[in-house]
Amino acid sequence: MTTVPDYFGSLVFDDRVMRAKLPEDVYQSLRQTIDEGAQLNLAVANAVASAMKDWAVENGATHFTHWFQPMTGVTAEKHDSFIAPAPDGGVIMEFSGKELIKGEPDASSFPSGGLRATFEARGYTAWDPSSYAFIKGKTLCIPTAFCSYGGEALDKKTPLLRSMDALNKQALRILRLFGNDTVRYVRTSVGPEQEYFLVDKEMYKKRKDLIFTGRTLFGAKPPKGQEMDDHYFGVIKPRVAAYMAELNDELWKLGILAKTEHNEVAPAQHELAPIYTTTNIATDHNQLTMEIMQKVADKHGLVCLLHEKPFAGVNGSGKHNNWSIATDSGVNLLSPGDTPHENAQFLLFLCAVIQAVDEYQDLLRASVATAGNDHRLGANEAPPAVVSIFLGDELTAVLESLENDTPYAAVEKTQMKLGAKVLPRFQRDTTDRNRTSPFAFTGNKFEFRMLGSSNSIACANIMLNAAVAQVLKGFADELEGKEDFDAALHALIKKTLKDHKRIIFNGNGYDDSWIKEAVEKRGLLNLRTTPDCMPCLFAEKNKSMLTGLKVFSAAELESRYDILMENYCKAVTIEAHTMVDMAEKEIIPAVEAYIEALASTAAAKKAVDGDLCCCYEKKRISKLSALVDQMDAAVDALDASLITLGMTSDITAQAELIRDEVLPKMSLLRAPADEAETLTAKKFWPFPTYGDLLFGV
Ligand code: ADP
Ligand code: MG
Repeated sequence: MTTVPDYFGSLVFDDRVMRAKLPEDVYQSLRQTIDEGAQLNLAVANAVASAMKDWAVENGATHFTHWFQPMTGVTAEKHDSFIAPAPDGGVIMEFSGKELIKGEPDASSFPSGGLRATFEARGYTAWDPSSYAFIKGKTLCIPTAFCSYGGEALDKKTPLLRSMDALNKQALRILRLFGNDTVRYVRTSVGPEQEYFLVDKEMYKKRKDLIFTGRTLFGAKPPKGQEMDDHYFGVIKPRVAAYMAELNDELWKLGILAKTEHNEVAPAQHELAPIYTTTNIATDHNQLTMEIMQKVADKHGLVCLLHEKPFAGVNGSGKHNNWSIATDSGVNLLSPGDTPHENAQFLLFLCAVIQAVDEYQDLLRASVATAGNDHRLGANEAPPAVVSIFLGDELTAVLESLENDTPYAAVEKTQMKLGAKVLPRFQRDTTDRNRTSPFAFTGNKFEFRMLGSSNSIACANIMLNAAVAQVLKGFADELEGKEDFDAALHALIKKTLKDHKRIIFNGNGYDDSWIKEAVEKRGLLNLRTTPDCMPCLFAEKNKSMLTGLKVFSAAELESRYDILMENYCKAVTIEAHTMVDMAEKEIIPAVEAYIEALASTAAAKKAVDGDLCCCYEKKRISKLSALVDQMDAAVDALDASLITLGMTSDITAQAELIRDEVLPKMSLLRAPADEAETLTAKKFWPFPTYGDLLFGV
């Protein structure tokens, strides 16, 4: 029997394969490029390309592609075959170092937000050697960054790699101050927990809203929803278990460390979590995971919904971004150490995160903003749109005693003095079970919980890495060259806590009183929608931070604003058109047909006994007629807004119109339709209901 270790990573050109297939000097030089970003020369690239091709061909590949992540949020690939003509009329399989390092896909139809003038349609892709190549189907996929000819990023990987570099540079400065001269590099790691829904494919195909938008735009509440909480961690049904088993196999072959799987809160909702790994690899893996989740579902007669809010009134899906910073020797800088010295270093990194999340709360919020995620944040099921940090009572008490030079009760009754006492290991606080905090410290990592299930994790990590890098830069500037390092450190930590403790909140984030306190007393931002938060990309403090660290150029920021706002507008516009279409062509005709049936029943009853009042039919007919009229009026109103939208050219104005007019009008159309559903005989309803979808697998 083959066991998991036999096939884990069998489709990946990983370190094991490289070591076995590459000449020693080529391997060493590639390893240096992977670890430290050293330049790769063409001779090495040629040797790597040739070994990669031989390995891929042995494993059934006929094509190769540069695999990249344009701003569409999904991955892109353009396949080229390895074949080259041989003089004897046959073919040989060829792949050069040049083809490995650089590609030139026709980029004209990827969103560029105006960065790439239309006459220069070409962008180029550049190999990211730090993420292993892999085989998908019959194609060797080479993870790459995607840029314009001017060098501007057209993708999510480029700024992510830049943000990791920025953090590396600044964290190393701090570590040197603590006397650590042997660390070579510092990297962030991420373990993204991915939520998703599974629905039956035949039912899915009957719903235009799911097909066109990924979420239901209509649907009355089923008699049973998630109130019993009986799905969470419940027994996994055989059909779902078979799906998960195949999904794991596929992911493992690709070297993806799929680790845990369980049912989530909502019926038909599940979660998959991998073991954490370096951020850019975790990002590539999460993109692949989402793709393979959908592919495998299809084979099982299922559809995997990755939308943030597929069903109203039922929990939506998010993605928890577990994030930590570690050195090349594996020391986690967010873990309190075993010595007072390590503790002091831990506290400084902790303070850096606290300050970063406070100062750049708007950017973190913006990094998860999409039309889909706007339905989740603040809807009493996911963290609120207000960013805050959960530290737990124990750690908060330690920080308070540091800030105020007061005794910390738990560690004897002595004053917390930096570098004098070993801190306790902070266990995940039991109060953290409520999961209401957007950004929670969980013992040795932070869990950023605002991401939507379909989001690429790149955006959140770009902002997080950059914000922390910026704060560490300030810290290093402050501490370098200080005579009395310990005193300067202590003062810096105290000041940071004083200035930024407003972002720390250990209570219930779903509570309305928290939002009031956060906004009114603490001055935190409550950016509820995508158009509310996107303009923060242009706030001076954010622009200067991101351009200063060279994570984004000013032009790139502008282009990203345009693309993200366009994505928002497109998503909602498609939804609105789909609603109109479903209401006019499916729902209203179905209700009318039912009215007709009721009327003929009434007529039949009357024919038998002329005195019958037919009260039931009359009542139903008049209720349903009124609802049809309401739907009709709502369709007209929505149509009118869509016409205005079509005449609005400015992207900001469009997004605001959508937020203020289109979305409210969509709700006004949905309400009578959902009510009509509850009053219409099941056999007349034109598509599967919530009950069918949620309990149908
Ligand atoms: P939960 O209770 O939220 O499921 P887990 O401890 O199981 O918490 O971890 C959830 C995710 O966090 C997993 O993907 C795991 O690999 C990841 N994780 C654990 N430790 C770290 C770390 N030091 N850095 C980043 N991610 C981590
Ligand atoms: Mg979690």
